[in-house]
Amino acid sequence: MKRTLSLLAAGILLTGCSALAPQTNYNASMIITNGQILTINDHKKVINDGVIVIQDDTIIAVGDESLLSRYQAPKVIDAEDGIVMPGMINTHNHLPMIAFRGLGEEGISNRLFAYFFPLEKEKLSRELIYEATKLGAVDLAQSGVTTYADMYYHMDDMARATKEVGLRAVLGETVIKFPVVDAPEPYGGIEYAKDFIAEYQNDPLITPAFAPHAVYTVSKEKLQEINQLSQQLAAPVLIHVGEFGNEAERIEGNTEQLSPVAWLKEIGVLDSRMVLAHGIHLSQDDIDLIKAADASVAYNPMANAKGATGIAPAWDMYQQDIRLGLGTDGPMSSNQVDLWRTLSYAANMQRLKHEDRTIMIPEQVIELATIGGARALHMEDEIGSIEVGKKADIIIVETQSPNMMPNYNPYATLVYQANPSNVAITIVNGDIVMENRQIQNIDMTEMQKSVKVIEDDIAAFAKELSKKAIKSPSLMK
Ligand SMILES: [Zn+2]
Repeated sequence: MKRTLSLLAAGILLTGCSALAPQTNYNASMIITNGQILTINDHKKVINDGVIVIQDDTIIAVGDESLLSRYQAPKVIDAEDGIVMPGMINTHNHLPMIAFRGLGEEGISNRLFAYFFPLEKEKLSRELIYEATKLGAVDLAQSGVTTYADMYYHMDDMARATKEVGLRAVLGETVIKFPVVDAPEPYGGIEYAKDFIAEYQNDPLITPAFAPHAVYTVSKEKLQEINQLSQQLAAPVLIHVGEFGNEAERIEGNTEQLSPVAWLKEIGVLDSRMVLAHGIHLSQDDIDLIKAADASVAYNPMANAKGATGIAPAWDMYQQDIRLGLGTDGPMSSNQVDLWRTLSYAANMQRLKHEDRTIMIPEQVIELATIGGARALHMEDEIGSIEVGKKADIIIVETQSPNMMPNYNPYATLVYQANPSNVAITIVNGDIVMENRQIQNIDMTEMQKSVKVIEDDIAAFAKELSKKAIKSPSLMK
């Protein structure tokens, strides 16, 4: 299947139109033709046989085929009637944990403390984080995620690998109350984050951030220090909130048993830079506080179902116009880094919760996966829709495979039929990152070899750890 027309063919195509409209006068960088464009603009406009014109990193025209008479470009992509949509945005991940995915699946109750943390303590290294991020970013690019938000360690190595693949990311350096792989002192992540933020502050693809792990693993004073720094440095703050039902009683100093969200408000750190991951155990009062602070929530339905942590009040938040995006959580929590399966979970979990099949229709789910994610990361002026002036973060999803046919309602086709292999082209910041399943900048054979080395190194340790962890008591409520 040849999707890219040559320069010569593009010339013929444009000459063909010139009889109708004589001027072919603007030289752009790239043109996408012949697609069913889901713009995800305010009116959710769909353009059949649509055309998108890109100049460098920016979308400069969106419309019908008449645009072909006005623009030409050295790169013309024929979408072949596929669905052309904004790249998807995964608002919560721990991408390097892809090195561990598939481990600890034996039914361990206290999996976070008895399995995740010891495994990370023993096996994480700079090299593993770099190699695993590369694998994860390739997986994301091949499945149409163009931006992801992440909370992990050695964020400079993650940034390097992410940029090599060519994705956009909000990368939060973890801050936690015990020593970790990149910070021998408790809370050493704060200093690490300051350096990382300084290094990447003006990067076109990377938004550096703070990632205090959770309300029960970061003290009040450190959350306040991070809040001050995030103001000074204009950096987002990514944090786990309301993932477990017993977080309030695990917060140090929370004598009044305030909810985690009320605690954040009480100590003066709940603000518009904060992205709350999970938000499962939220009351209406909590939602009101989030709304008033203009903070955001990352909804991770597939990970929450697998972890049996509960169903977030996502439909309530959606209706109340909370900044709400979709996330997968880390690859040990959902095993997928792309959003395809998460899309149907996002809808179906809410329908089960409310016993109502009319809510969270496919169009709303795709909204959450695109502009919703952009809003959650406060990037809606740059990404999340196909509109003039926005960055060219665009994917083409083919509609010719049997699982994609028929395609009566593209939103339903995407949410309930599509899978990662249907993504034909991924464009980030005006650059083609993946085309016909090939990643432009990565030697796949080398990457596969590196992953095998990691796998061989981890396997034996993981087996022993599992035996111990399975006996550990649960902390979850
Ligand atoms: Zn998480």
